[in-house]
Amino acid sequence: MKPSLIVHGGAWDIPEEAFEACKEGCGRALEAGWCVLSRGGPALDAVEAAIVELEDAPVFDAGTGSHLNLDGRVECDAIVMDGASLRAGAVACVHRIRNPIRLARAVLERAPHMMLVGEGAERFAAEHGIAQCDPKELITEAELAAWLRCRNDKHAAKYHRGHEQGTVGAVAMDREGRLIAGTSTGGTCCKLPGRVGDSPLIGCGCYADAEAGGVSCTGWGEAIMKIVMAKAAADLLRGCAIADEASGMRAAREAVKVLAERGRGTGGLILLDREGGPAFAFNTPHMAYGYVAGDGTFVTGV
Ligand code: ASP
Repeated sequence: MKPSLIVHGGAWDIPEEAFEACKEGCGRALEAGWCVLSRGGPALDAVEAAIVELEDAPVFDAGTGSHLNLDGRVECDAIVMDGASLRAGAVACVHRIRNPIRLARAVLERAPHMMLVGEGAERFAAEHGIAQCDPKELITEAELAAWLRCRNDKHAAKYHRGHEQGTVGAVAMDREGRLIAGTSTGGTCCKLPGRVGDSPLIGCGCYADAEAGGVSCTGWGEAIMKIVMAKAAADLLRGCAIADEASGMRAAREAVKVLAERGRGTGGLILLDREGGPAFAFNTPHMAYGYVAGDGTFVTGV
């Protein structure tokens, strides 16, 4: 099969001065993932490589550069899902993991469960050689300044606006037709400690079924959870008799419409259909995205 890859860097009101950094970050993620896929490597490696790039880029809300919670701490969530087995590996509320997607993968491949949280997840990381770091290393100056502005003015909504999202995700299909989706986030700005959003929840922030398609979501987690958006999009893909560009875009738009109308929320998603066709939709002012076009060129946008 022809490999394919799509990534996102969050759906939000991205300020103009961040456009280039977001596009560059998505471009680097495509390079990292495509380097694996174009050599015939597995989709799981490609999704991990792409998301590690996005987690390491401080412009996105995942890994380094994650939003801070109400206590001023980073709490990360991540998931990766295998479209063949329908197994997922997910982690939530981890503080000291530089690349939470690596830990999610370790859960997928080596744990008897599909989701680990907090201390248990970090213990599992230590036991399985996943790099840990000082939680402070994940805090950027920009996020600390934003958190201080919020705190000093009783968390007035104006400080959260335009500073709310930037979750990352990737969906890849390799030459063998293996389909993998993944999502990683620092969650929402000034969230309550212990809050977990849609991102690491199977069917909400991520879903992959080789018979339907793979999806990674971003946006207001509490709304995405209400409509189980990633599974909703996958079900729409399953219902398409033919998988082509138009049907993928229709499914993406329809899922975002349900998010707006039933979930009363904003956000977006990326997907690959069961043939590897990329599509995306969002109802926020912007979403950072990138995909590899049919002729092998990288397309990025916000
Ligand atoms: N969905 C994420 C959350 O609610 C935030 C985002 O996508 O930017 O945790």
